[in-house]
Amino acid sequence: HVREHLLTILTVSAVVCGVIAGIIVRAAGLHENEEKFHPRTVMYVNFIGDIFLRMLKALILPLIVSSLVAAVGSLDISLSKRIGTRAIAYYMLTTVLAVLLGIILVSIIQPGRGGVDPNDDRPKPSTRAVTTADTMLDLVRNIFPPNLVQATIQQYQTELQNNSKPDMSDWDIKGRFTDGMNIMGLVVASVVFGIAISSARQQTRTLLMVFNELSQTMMRITGWVIWLSPIGVFFLILSKMMEMKNVVDVFAKLGLYLLTVSGGILFHGFVILPSIFFLVTRKNPLKFIGNMGQAIATAFGTSSSSATLPVTIQCLEQNNKIDSRVSRFVLPIGATINMDGTALYEAVAAIFIAQLRGVNMTLTKIFAVSITATAASIGAAGIPQAGLVTLVMVLDTVGLPAEDVSLVIAVDWILDRIRTVVNVLGDSFGAAIVEHFSKNEIKAIPDSITINNNLQ
Ligand code: ASP
Repeated sequence: HVREHLLTILTVSAVVCGVIAGIIVRAAGLHENEEKFHPRTVMYVNFIGDIFLRMLKALILPLIVSSLVAAVGSLDISLSKRIGTRAIAYYMLTTVLAVLLGIILVSIIQPGRGGVDPNDDRPKPSTRAVTTADTMLDLVRNIFPPNLVQATIQQYQTELQNNSKPDMSDWDIKGRFTDGMNIMGLVVASVVFGIAISSARQQTRTLLMVFNELSQTMMRITGWVIWLSPIGVFFLILSKMMEMKNVVDVFAKLGLYLLTVSGGILFHGFVILPSIFFLVTRKNPLKFIGNMGQAIATAFGTSSSSATLPVTIQCLEQNNKIDSRVSRFVLPIGATINMDGTALYEAVAAIFIAQLRGVNMTLTKIFAVSITATAASIGAAGIPQAGLVTLVMVLDTVGLPAEDVSLVIAVDWILDRIRTVVNVLGDSFGAAIVEHFSKNEIKAIPDSITINNNLQ
C-alpha cells in the first residue's frame, strides 16, 4: 500500500511541478518577444510524455476486449443484465444532472452577455452542412462495425466531400471511414461475445479462461506502465504550458466562460457525485477520491479517458477494492459513453456561443440543447478534444454554424483536461455504486469462474 500511495503522491506532485516548471520556463524564455516556443523545442520537451501516452494507448485495445469478455463471460446472463442496467441508469442520471447544472449556471452567470461585434463576418449555417441527424446516425452506425479488425483502426464519419470541382454545389455529404479506433463498436462486440461465452458455459470454459488470463496480463503490464506516470505527466504538462499563446489576452476574453464551465464541472465531480456516492454506499467519498489520485492526475495529464482507463481500473480494484467483475465490466463502457464533464461543457459552450451571437434561447431551444448535449457526450470518444468536435452538433440544433466553435477553441485545452478528470471520476463512482447494489448477487457466483483479483 505504501508503494501505491507513494506513486499517487509522486504523480499528483508531477502535475503541480509541471505547472510551476512551465511558469518558470515561460518567464525565463519569453520576455523579449511574446512568441511561443519553437514547435521543435516543445516537441523535444514533450517526447517523454508522448512515449508514456503511447504505452497507455497500446494497452487500450487488448484491455477493453479482454476485460469485458472476461467479466461478462464470468457472470450469468441475468446478472450481467442487471449490472448493465444499473450502470446505464447511473450514466444517464448523472449525465442529465450535469447538463442541467450547466444550463442553470450558464443562464444565471450569462458569460456571453455583451456579445461579439455584430458587424463581424459571421458565417451562415450552410445548407450542405453535416447536421445533428448525420452525427446521431453515425453514433448508431459505429455500434455495428461491419468488420471488427477495421474497427480497431477506423470509425465511420459523415463528412462534406468535394468532387474536386471548384463550385460549391459539387460538395456532397458522404460517409467514410476515418482514423481512430471505433471503441464503441468494440465495446458492444465484446459484450455480445461475453454473453455468448456465458450462455454456452459448458463448452466455453477454456475460452473464458483465455480472456481472463489475458485481462490479468494486461493489468500486470498496466502496473508497470503506471510507474512511469510521474515523469510522463510532468513532461506532458510542461510542454503544454510552453505551447500556450497570449494567456492573459485569452483569459481576459473568455475568463467568465472558463470559470462557468470549470466551476460547474468541478462542482459536479467533487460535490454532487461524491454526495450521491455517500448517500448510496455510506462510505467516505474523500478517501475514495484520494484513492483515485493516480487516475485523476493521469486524466489531467493526458486529456483522454480511454488512455487513462488502465489506470482507472487499477486504482479502483487495488485501492478502492471494487470487485473486478464489476469494474472490468462497467468501466470500459463508462469510459466510452459516460462523460459528465463533457456533457456539462457541451451545454454551457453552446449556450455561451448563442449568448455571444445574440440568439434568443427559448425553452424549446434549451430543451434541444440538453438532449443534444447528452447525445454529444455519449458520442464523443475518450480522446483529447473530442468534445469540441461533437459540439458542432449541439450548435447545429440552435442554428449556429460549425465555424463558431472557433469562439471557444482558445481555452479548450484546459477545459478538456478538467472535463476528462470528471469523466474519469464519474465512471469510478459509477462502478462503486453499481458494485454496492450488486454485491450480494456477485458474491453468490462460484469461485471457479471469478476473476482472480489478486494482482500482486
Ligand atoms: N477528452 C475527453 C475525454 O477523454 C473528451 C472530451 O473532449 O470532452 O474524456
